[in-house]
Amino acid sequence: MSETDIDRSAHAIDVQELHKYFGENQVLKGIDFEVDAGQVVCVIGPSGSGKSTLLRCVNRLEEPTSGKIFVEGVEVTDPDVDLDLLRSRIGMVFQQFNLFPHLTVMDNLTIAQTKVKKRRKDEAVQIARSNLEKVGLANREDAYPAHLSGGQQQRIAIARALSMSPDLMLFDEPTSALDPELVGDVLGVMKDLAKEGMTMMVVTHEMGFAREVGDKLVFMDGGVIVEQGDPVEVLADPREQRTQAFLSKVL
Ligand code: ADP
Ligand code: MG
Repeated sequence: MSETDIDRSAHAIDVQELHKYFGENQVLKGIDFEVDAGQVVCVIGPSGSGKSTLLRCVNRLEEPTSGKIFVEGVEVTDPDVDLDLLRSRIGMVFQQFNLFPHLTVMDNLTIAQTKVKKRRKDEAVQIARSNLEKVGLANREDAYPAHLSGGQQQRIAIARALSMSPDLMLFDEPTSALDPELVGDVLGVMKDLAKEGMTMMVVTHEMGFAREVGDKLVFMDGGVIVEQGDPVEVLADPREQRTQAFLSKVL
Protein backbone atom coordinates (compact mmCIF):
# COMPACT_ATOMS: atom_id res chain seq x y z
CA MET A 1 0.00 0.00 0.00
CA SER A 2 1.20 3.52 -0.72
CA GLU A 3 -0.46 6.90 -0.26
CA THR A 4 -1.45 6.82 -3.93
CA ASP A 5 -3.56 3.68 -3.40
CA ILE A 6 -5.93 5.46 -1.03
CA ASP A 7 -9.40 5.84 -2.54
CA ARG A 8 -11.28 8.44 -0.55
CA SER A 9 -14.50 7.76 -2.45
CA ALA A 10 -14.60 4.24 -0.98
CA HIS A 11 -16.10 3.40 2.42
CA ALA A 12 -13.81 4.52 5.25
CA ILE A 13 -14.04 0.98 6.66
CA ASP A 14 -15.56 -1.96 4.81
CA VAL A 15 -15.66 -5.32 6.59
CA GLN A 16 -16.70 -8.33 4.51
CA GLU A 17 -17.44 -11.86 5.82
CA LEU A 18 -14.87 -11.51 8.59
CA HIS A 19 -14.09 -14.65 10.55
CA LYS A 20 -11.60 -15.01 13.39
CA TYR A 21 -10.57 -18.08 15.33
CA PHE A 22 -8.33 -18.24 18.38
CA GLY A 23 -7.34 -21.91 18.15
CA GLU A 24 -10.63 -23.82 18.18
CA ASN A 25 -12.54 -20.84 19.51
CA GLN A 26 -14.52 -19.08 16.79
CA VAL A 27 -14.73 -15.49 17.97
CA LEU A 28 -15.97 -13.68 14.84
CA LYS A 29 -18.50 -15.59 12.73
CA GLY A 30 -19.01 -13.62 9.54
CA ILE A 31 -19.04 -9.90 10.24
CA ASP A 32 -20.21 -7.47 7.53
CA PHE A 33 -20.50 -3.74 7.92
CA GLU A 34 -19.35 -0.41 6.62
CA VAL A 35 -18.37 2.93 8.09
CA ASP A 36 -18.51 5.97 5.82
CA ALA A 37 -16.14 8.92 6.04
CA GLY A 38 -17.18 11.26 8.83
CA GLN A 39 -19.47 8.70 10.47
CA VAL A 40 -19.37 7.64 14.10
CA VAL A 41 -20.20 3.97 14.55
CA CYS A 42 -20.68 2.70 18.10
CA VAL A 43 -20.32 -1.01 18.85
CA ILE A 44 -22.03 -2.45 21.90
CA GLY A 45 -22.52 -5.95 23.24
CA PRO A 46 -21.78 -8.22 26.17
CA SER A 47 -18.28 -9.04 27.34
CA GLY A 48 -16.67 -11.70 25.15
CA SER A 49 -18.87 -11.00 22.12
CA GLY A 50 -15.86 -10.13 19.94
CA LYS A 51 -15.97 -6.32 19.94
CA SER A 52 -12.27 -5.78 20.72
CA THR A 53 -11.22 -8.51 18.30
CA LEU A 54 -13.22 -6.85 15.52
CA LEU A 55 -11.67 -3.46 16.24
CA ARG A 56 -8.17 -4.94 16.41
CA CYS A 57 -8.63 -6.71 13.07
CA VAL A 58 -9.23 -3.32 11.39
CA ASN A 59 -5.62 -2.24 12.01
CA ARG A 60 -4.28 -5.81 11.97
CA LEU A 61 -3.39 -5.97 15.65
CA GLU A 62 -5.18 -9.31 15.19
CA GLU A 63 -4.88 -11.42 12.06
CA PRO A 64 -8.29 -12.21 10.57
CA THR A 65 -8.73 -15.92 9.77
CA SER A 66 -10.79 -15.18 6.65
CA GLY A 67 -12.77 -12.38 5.07
CA LYS A 68 -11.70 -8.98 3.85
CA ILE A 69 -11.31 -5.54 5.36
CA PHE A 70 -10.78 -2.39 3.34
CA VAL A 71 -9.79 0.99 4.76
CA GLU A 72 -10.41 3.79 2.26
CA GLY A 73 -10.39 1.25 -0.53
CA VAL A 74 -7.05 -0.31 0.48
CA GLU A 75 -7.20 -3.97 1.43
CA VAL A 76 -5.93 -4.25 5.00
CA THR A 77 -6.10 -8.04 4.82
CA ASP A 78 -3.66 -8.12 1.89
CA PRO A 79 -0.56 -9.88 3.27
CA ASP A 80 1.67 -7.30 1.56
CA VAL A 81 0.00 -4.26 3.10
CA ASP A 82 2.39 -1.70 4.62
CA LEU A 83 1.38 -2.05 8.27
CA ASP A 84 3.30 1.03 9.45
CA LEU A 85 1.56 3.22 6.90
CA LEU A 86 -1.80 1.58 7.62
CA ARG A 87 -1.48 2.12 11.36
CA SER A 88 -0.26 5.68 10.94
CA ARG A 89 -3.61 6.41 9.26
CA ILE A 90 -5.67 4.67 11.95
CA GLY A 91 -5.50 6.15 15.45
CA MET A 92 -6.29 3.75 18.29
CA VAL A 93 -7.25 4.50 21.86
CA PHE A 94 -7.45 1.68 24.39
CA GLN A 95 -9.22 1.20 27.70
CA GLN A 96 -5.83 1.27 29.45
CA PHE A 97 -4.28 4.45 28.15
CA ASN A 98 -0.97 2.84 27.16
CA LEU A 99 1.12 6.00 27.45
CA PHE A 100 4.89 5.53 27.74
CA PRO A 101 5.40 5.99 31.51
CA HIS A 102 9.05 7.06 31.25
CA LEU A 103 8.31 9.85 28.75
CA THR A 104 6.81 13.29 29.32
CA VAL A 105 3.50 14.16 27.74
CA MET A 106 5.30 16.07 24.97
CA ASP A 107 7.64 13.16 24.23
CA ASN A 108 4.67 10.78 24.20
CA LEU A 109 3.09 12.99 21.54
CA THR A 110 6.17 13.51 19.37
CA ILE A 111 8.02 10.18 19.38
CA ALA A 112 5.95 8.43 16.69
CA GLN A 113 5.62 11.63 14.69
CA THR A 114 9.39 11.89 14.32
CA LYS A 115 10.10 8.14 14.04
CA VAL A 116 7.19 6.95 11.88
CA LYS A 117 6.00 10.13 10.14
CA LYS A 118 9.59 11.44 9.83
CA ARG A 119 8.48 14.90 10.90
CA ARG A 120 11.03 17.45 12.06
CA LYS A 121 11.09 17.84 15.85
CA ASP A 122 9.84 21.44 15.80
CA GLU A 123 6.99 20.54 13.48
CA ALA A 124 6.06 17.56 15.69
CA VAL A 125 6.07 19.80 18.78
CA GLN A 126 3.80 22.32 17.09
CA ILE A 127 1.32 19.60 16.06
CA ALA A 128 1.45 18.11 19.58
CA ARG A 129 0.72 21.51 21.14
CA SER A 130 -2.33 22.07 18.96
CA ASN A 131 -3.67 18.65 19.91
CA LEU A 132 -3.00 19.19 23.61
CA GLU A 133 -5.01 22.38 23.32
CA LYS A 134 -7.80 20.46 21.62
CA VAL A 135 -8.09 18.03 24.55
CA GLY A 136 -7.85 20.83 27.12
CA LEU A 137 -4.38 19.96 28.45
CA ALA A 138 -2.17 22.63 26.91
CA ASN A 139 -0.43 23.28 30.24
CA ARG A 140 0.67 19.69 30.92
CA GLU A 141 3.31 19.05 28.26
CA ASP A 142 6.15 18.52 30.79
CA ALA A 143 4.19 16.19 33.07
CA TYR A 144 4.78 12.45 33.32
CA PRO A 145 1.75 10.16 32.91
CA ALA A 146 1.84 8.99 36.53
CA HIS A 147 1.20 12.56 37.67
CA LEU A 148 -2.02 12.84 35.67
CA SER A 149 -5.50 11.55 36.48
CA GLY A 150 -6.90 8.67 34.43
CA GLY A 151 -9.12 11.07 32.53
CA GLN A 152 -6.19 13.32 31.72
CA GLN A 153 -4.09 10.33 30.63
CA GLN A 154 -6.84 9.21 28.30
CA ARG A 155 -7.14 12.69 26.79
CA ILE A 156 -3.35 12.64 26.28
CA ALA A 157 -3.71 9.24 24.58
CA ILE A 158 -6.31 10.78 22.26
CA ALA A 159 -4.04 13.77 21.56
CA ARG A 160 -1.18 11.37 20.84
CA ALA A 161 -3.28 9.44 18.32
CA LEU A 162 -4.45 12.70 16.70
CA SER A 163 -0.88 13.93 16.38
CA MET A 164 -0.29 11.24 13.74
CA SER A 165 -2.98 12.98 11.63
CA PRO A 166 -5.07 9.82 11.24
CA ASP A 167 -7.93 9.49 8.77
CA LEU A 168 -9.95 7.47 11.26
CA MET A 169 -9.95 6.68 14.95
CA LEU A 170 -10.73 3.43 16.77
CA PHE A 171 -11.72 3.57 20.44
CA ASP A 172 -11.95 0.42 22.60
CA GLU A 173 -13.96 1.22 25.73
CA PRO A 174 -12.06 4.48 26.25
CA THR A 175 -13.91 5.41 29.42
CA SER A 176 -14.36 2.00 31.06
CA ALA A 177 -11.29 2.29 33.30
CA LEU A 178 -12.14 5.79 34.52
CA ASP A 179 -13.72 7.00 37.72
CA PRO A 180 -17.25 8.15 36.89
CA GLU A 181 -16.50 11.85 37.41
CA LEU A 182 -13.72 11.70 34.79
CA VAL A 183 -15.79 10.07 32.05
CA GLY A 184 -17.51 13.26 30.89
CA ASP A 185 -14.33 15.11 29.91
CA VAL A 186 -13.16 12.23 27.72
CA LEU A 187 -16.56 11.85 26.07
CA GLY A 188 -16.58 15.62 25.52
CA VAL A 189 -13.28 15.43 23.62
CA MET A 190 -14.65 12.56 21.52
CA LYS A 191 -17.81 14.49 20.80
CA ASP A 192 -15.79 17.50 19.60
CA LEU A 193 -13.80 15.19 17.37
CA ALA A 194 -16.98 13.77 15.87
CA LYS A 195 -18.26 17.31 15.23
CA GLU A 196 -15.07 18.09 13.33
CA GLY A 197 -15.91 15.20 11.01
CA MET A 198 -13.51 12.51 12.23
CA THR A 199 -14.48 8.99 11.20
CA MET A 200 -14.78 6.98 14.40
CA MET A 201 -15.48 3.41 15.46
CA VAL A 202 -16.19 3.31 19.18
CA VAL A 203 -16.69 0.25 21.37
CA THR A 204 -18.51 1.63 24.38
CA HIS A 205 -21.00 1.05 27.16
CA GLU A 206 -21.94 4.74 27.14
CA MET A 207 -25.42 4.54 25.63
CA GLY A 208 -25.95 8.29 26.02
CA PHE A 209 -22.89 8.93 23.85
CA ALA A 210 -24.05 6.35 21.29
CA ARG A 211 -27.48 7.96 21.11
CA GLU A 212 -26.26 11.54 20.92
CA VAL A 213 -23.10 11.25 18.83
CA GLY A 214 -23.39 7.95 16.96
CA ASP A 215 -24.57 7.76 13.35
CA LYS A 216 -24.90 3.99 13.57
CA LEU A 217 -25.16 1.49 16.40
CA VAL A 218 -23.95 -2.08 16.01
CA PHE A 219 -25.01 -4.70 18.57
CA MET A 220 -22.76 -7.77 18.71
CA ASP A 221 -23.34 -11.02 20.55
CA GLY A 222 -21.51 -14.34 20.21
CA GLY A 223 -19.31 -13.20 17.35
CA VAL A 224 -22.09 -11.94 15.07
CA ILE A 225 -23.79 -8.61 14.47
CA VAL A 226 -27.26 -9.24 15.82
CA GLU A 227 -28.66 -5.84 14.86
CA GLN A 228 -27.46 -2.53 13.49
CA GLY A 229 -29.14 0.74 12.70
CA ASP A 230 -29.83 4.29 13.78
CA PRO A 231 -28.81 4.52 17.47
CA VAL A 232 -31.96 6.35 18.54
CA GLU A 233 -34.15 3.68 16.93
CA VAL A 234 -32.14 0.67 18.08
CA LEU A 235 -31.99 1.93 21.66
CA ALA A 236 -35.65 2.90 21.84
CA ASP A 237 -37.10 0.01 19.90
CA PRO A 238 -34.70 -2.93 19.36
CA ARG A 239 -36.02 -5.48 16.86
CA GLU A 240 -34.13 -8.52 18.11
CA GLN A 241 -34.84 -10.31 21.35
CA ARG A 242 -31.10 -10.58 22.18
CA THR A 243 -30.71 -6.81 21.77
CA GLN A 244 -33.71 -6.21 24.01
CA ALA A 245 -32.30 -8.51 26.68
CA PHE A 246 -28.89 -6.78 26.61
CA LEU A 247 -30.33 -3.27 26.68
CA SER A 248 -32.67 -4.10 29.53
CA LYS A 249 -29.58 -4.88 31.60
CA VAL A 250 -27.53 -1.79 30.72
CA LEU A 251 -30.10 0.99 30.28
P1 ADP B 1 -15.18 -8.23 23.87
O1 ADP B 1 -14.25 -7.12 23.51
O2 ADP B 1 -16.52 -8.13 23.21
O3 ADP B 1 -15.31 -8.40 25.35
P2 ADP B 1 -13.09 -9.93 22.83
O4 ADP B 1 -12.97 -9.63 21.39
O5 ADP B 1 -12.09 -9.37 23.75
O6 ADP B 1 -14.57 -9.59 23.31
O7 ADP B 1 -13.06 -11.51 23.04
C1 ADP B 1 -13.89 -12.39 22.32
C2 ADP B 1 -13.46 -13.81 22.62
O8 ADP B 1 -12.16 -14.01 22.10
C3 ADP B 1 -13.39 -14.15 24.10
O9 ADP B 1 -13.87 -15.47 24.24
C4 ADP B 1 -11.92 -14.08 24.41
O10 ADP B 1 -11.58 -14.94 25.44
C5 ADP B 1 -11.29 -14.50 23.10
N1 ADP B 1 -9.98 -13.89 22.90
C6 ADP B 1 -9.74 -12.56 22.75
N2 ADP B 1 -8.44 -12.31 22.55
C7 ADP B 1 -7.82 -13.53 22.57
C8 ADP B 1 -6.46 -13.97 22.39
N3 ADP B 1 -5.48 -13.09 22.15
N4 ADP B 1 -6.23 -15.28 22.47
C9 ADP B 1 -7.21 -16.18 22.69
N5 ADP B 1 -8.51 -15.84 22.84
C10 ADP B 1 -8.82 -14.53 22.79
MG1 MG C 1 -13.28 -5.74 24.66
